[in-house]
Amino acid sequence: NQPLHELDPAIAAALDAELERQQSTLEMIASENFAPVAVMEAQGSVATNKYAEGYPGRRYYGGCEHVDVAEQIAIDRVKELFGAEYANVQPHSGASANQAALFAIAQPGDTILGLDLAHGGHLTHGMRLNFSGKQFNVVAYHVETDTGLVDMAEVERLAKEHRPKVIIAGWSAYPRQLDFAAFRRIADEVGAYLWVDMAHFAGLVAAGQHPNPVPHADVVTSTTHKTLGGPRGGIILARSKEFAKKLNSAVFPGFQGGPLEHVIAAKAVSFKVAASEEFKERQQRTIEGARILAERLTAPDAREAGVNVLSGGTDVHLILVDLRASDLDGQQAEDRLHEVGITVNRNAVPDDPRPPMVTSGLRIGTPALATRGFTAEDFTEVADVIAETLKPAYDTDALKARVKALADKHPLYPGL
Ligand code: PLP
Repeated sequence: NQPLHELDPAIAAALDAELERQQSTLEMIASENFAPVAVMEAQGSVATNKYAEGYPGRRYYGGCEHVDVAEQIAIDRVKELFGAEYANVQPHSGASANQAALFAIAQPGDTILGLDLAHGGHLTHGMRLNFSGKQFNVVAYHVETDTGLVDMAEVERLAKEHRPKVIIAGWSAYPRQLDFAAFRRIADEVGAYLWVDMAHFAGLVAAGQHPNPVPHADVVTSTTHKTLGGPRGGIILARSKEFAKKLNSAVFPGFQGGPLEHVIAAKAVSFKVAASEEFKERQQRTIEGARILAERLTAPDAREAGVNVLSGGTDVHLILVDLRASDLDGQQAEDRLHEVGITVNRNAVPDDPRPPMVTSGLRIGTPALATRGFTAEDFTEVADVIAETLKPAYDTDALKARVKALADKHPLYPGL
């Protein structure tokens, strides 16, 4: 039982360097967050040793009495958090949750209608190389070019034309709220199931800062590690028990074997955190931070540098920067921000004139910095640093110093 530093110095060094990177830079990848120490403690616990195929009280292995307790707490908490009657906390990831959800309500060959990947959708919503694109007949809807908003008239038209088995509402890169009631109405009109993938905005929903899709959808999936701020993983929820059997058996034995009970314990901890006042306040700062970024990156001097923000603003935890009018492409902008200590990812804008590996946009998110304690004042400084970095002339050293000052002001994982 040697400690990691003794047993495997190479891996220990890589992990130490990763901790230092997280502490010293500004993490603004919209899908990332910092899990609380208690979540990491649960995730690094002895529950990693346990096989527990099946569900609490109905396992295929002995000795499950304690992991049963933890998994049942996770289920009860997440149902309460989102007002769901059904929950499955076993999916290993968001993609696994989506795979199980889709196979529970549709058959290979059925038609599914989801948001185009290039317009903000996710791989699992019908991308050609993903299981969803390979095994289902995919029809994609889009955002309107001029407003950047999901074209609900197109959703309705395509739904009526193609009669999909499933309509998917959800996104990986979209700065606004979806109209779940409208999706429900369209689904009902054509006899489709409505699946909402709230992976990105689940934390906002839990905090009451975003409409809850659960009452509208037949099935809701999510990750637990984005705005929700827990361990990496997935969940499936539903407003009723109608699909409970199908969903449970799609997860196990459909696609997974033994559940990750250590991760499930960590999910339970994160659901407790997500029900707190502190979490609500944090999600409010997350959205406020994104609004400040949008304001600053649509200001006249940013516009002069060819920088703009898709849809003109945001209602959520991220903004989509539009660089179509800038000399910088997405790759160059991502690299420049990396150079000054800000981590973001490049992102295609709808109808992007540049190739997918280069792109003309950036996706910038605020959850991780909000978790770190950043206030409106700090986000204003972050926004100014980003705006300065994207100008034709920029002073790397001065910007690096401003990033360092912000990182030092809000220490991450002190004592780790
Ligand atoms: N669904 C959406 C909307 C996502 O944005 C993501 C992750 O980026 C996923 C699902 C997949 O999650 P994971 O990476 O855990 O498989």
